[in-house]
Amino acid sequence: MTRCLRCHGHAEYQWDDHEYRSESGLDSVLLTNCLFLHCRTCGEHSPVLPNALTLTTLILESLVVQPPGLPGTAIRFMRKALRLTAQTLAERIGTTREEVSRWENDRVAISPHFELKLRLEVIDGLFSHRPVLRQNVVAAMTATNDAKGASRQVIIDASPHYPPHVLPLPEEKPISANRARVEIEH
Ligand SMILES: [Zn+2]
Repeated sequence: MTRCLRCHGHAEYQWDDHEYRSESGLDSVLLTNCLFLHCRTCGEHSPVLPNALTLTTLILESLVVQPPGLPGTAIRFMRKALRLTAQTLAERIGTTREEVSRWENDRVAISPHFELKLRLEVIDGLFSHRPVLRQNVVAAMTATNDAKGASRQVIIDASPHYPPHVLPLPEEKPISANRARVEIEH
């Protein structure tokens, strides 16, 4: 039997959607099929998240394949995931710290030229084993079609990212398994 962390009453695991915004700093990250610990006694309903590094990787995978026009919060998220200061990022991609700050604060839209460079910093730094991903991103970012702007919401199916040996996963299938989700190329 699982115990509630708050009242120590009987608790059970449930699947539910979880808005991950507060933790990530992004405008919106929707985790579909997130595991929750639900208490029958006090009603506590708290998410059990996949590990933070896994979530960061999943969010980055989603961001680098978005259509052009990433919001400032996404640019800041990518820079922090790379563990770069605004100054260091600026030097790497050939701009100024002030310009990076303007992008991150949505005062100036990042140009496709610099947006591609930023995405390639992420791919070359963290997904260097994924050459097809790199090719696809370069092709998408340099295409001359009028692609729609990047979505401000990242949607990630969390359910495949729980290590089964760590958590007593519920037997039944996630409730929203058929929900639209971001396709991630592997
Ligand atoms: Zn409780």
